[in-house]
Amino acid sequence: MNISIREKDRFKVIDTPEHKDITILGSTGSIGTSTLDLISRNPEKYSVKALTANSNVEALAKQAIAHNAEMAVIADQDKYSDLKEALHGHNIIAAAGSEALNEAADTSADWVMSSIVGAAGLKPTLTAIRRGATIALANKECLVCAGEFMMQQVEDCGATILPVDSEHNAIFQIFDFDEPEKIEKVTLTASGGPFWNKDIADMQYITPVEAIKHPNWSLGVKISVDSATMMNKGLELIEAYYMFPIEKEQLDIIIHPESIIHSMVSYIDGSVLAQLGTPDMRTPISYTLGWPHRMNAPSKKLDLTEIGQLNFIRPDKVKFPAINITREVLQKGGSAPTILNASNEIAVKAFLEGQIDFLDITKVVEKALDTIKIHQMTCLNDVHDVDENTRIVTGEIVEGLKK
Ligand code: NAD
Ligand code: MG
Repeated sequence: MNISIREKDRFKVIDTPEHKDITILGSTGSIGTSTLDLISRNPEKYSVKALTANSNVEALAKQAIAHNAEMAVIADQDKYSDLKEALHGHNIIAAAGSEALNEAADTSADWVMSSIVGAAGLKPTLTAIRRGATIALANKECLVCAGEFMMQQVEDCGATILPVDSEHNAIFQIFDFDEPEKIEKVTLTASGGPFWNKDIADMQYITPVEAIKHPNWSLGVKISVDSATMMNKGLELIEAYYMFPIEKEQLDIIIHPESIIHSMVSYIDGSVLAQLGTPDMRTPISYTLGWPHRMNAPSKKLDLTEIGQLNFIRPDKVKFPAINITREVLQKGGSAPTILNASNEIAVKAFLEGQIDFLDITKVVEKALDTIKIHQMTCLNDVHDVDENTRIVTGEIVEGLKK
């Protein structure tokens, strides 16, 4: 089953308020901060309802005060009194824990940014979906681990999902939703991360510091490692499959190291449409924030004469096994994407903590997919169980590999 958001008129605008109340799930991260930057440039158009973070009380309180938020939520329960203290004297509700995170998602904001990293963002995103909210979706892991069920809820609850990920945002802008059958191919471009042209023999000893240094984009730590292994592009393949009315076989990936073309759609008449721009997430975020209208974004304007050359390279599948792994996972379906996502989260964490080597990340994911039985899932509880079990099994795999 692939319920596309557009097939069901998911993008149809019925009523867009002039002034939008905003909630950001994961406001202290890279995407959250960029979103607040856009909001602060247009204070007459936006008010902040709720902001949430994992454990950084100082950053969260600072944001909540600066943006006059109604509510600030810290996921780490133990940080409640710190947050309360940091917000003392301000008329901002302080709350902590996973239930409070859901409350933040449930507040009546007109627009919710889902930018928590990892499957931890699934529950609050589903809460926002259930109340039929308009959700700008940055958190691709949600779709990878629970794509079918999530899109079914989007459909059932009349929610709207707007793609934030630069590639999906590009596709959103150039995809002919009225005649999707005229589309032959959708090509996701990939920067290739910092190592696309590195010799495989030198890749074993890549350190976390090297892996999180992305050449073009300013990213959170986890997505930086995913870009370096190219697992990010694999996750995006699955994300695109759930978001747009296309077949798995119509999805292609190419490396484009300049990150100027953010994705392309090829039509049956030979036309290829692309969306271009300098690599700055404030462009795709602004497209979803202003949607259905474009708004000013402070991103550097593109001057192609300054760039000079755009390059395109087929990804090396030996160096980047994540591409084939994710393609197989997409074919298998069922619980395979959930296993892929959870095992990757654990493997990336183990790498960042110095427990395993860079090239072990995808080996761990492959082993988890080989070890855990893949089955059809029937409900969100199944997703939760598979996610939990995968984290335990992957933890054991990591133990066996520890340096
Ligand atoms: P980040 O690490 O910079 O920020 C993550 C945010 O989530 C922070 O506010 C953090 O406090 C919060 N968080 C982390 N773990 C949490 C938990 N267990 N419970 C509650 N909150 C938690 O990440 P980011 O780079 O902003 O990415 C966010 C999401 O957007 C990811 O899914 C990523 O793949 C996606 N994305 C990011 C970019 C980018 O340019 N950064 C681009 C495309 C997609
Ligand atoms: Mg992307």
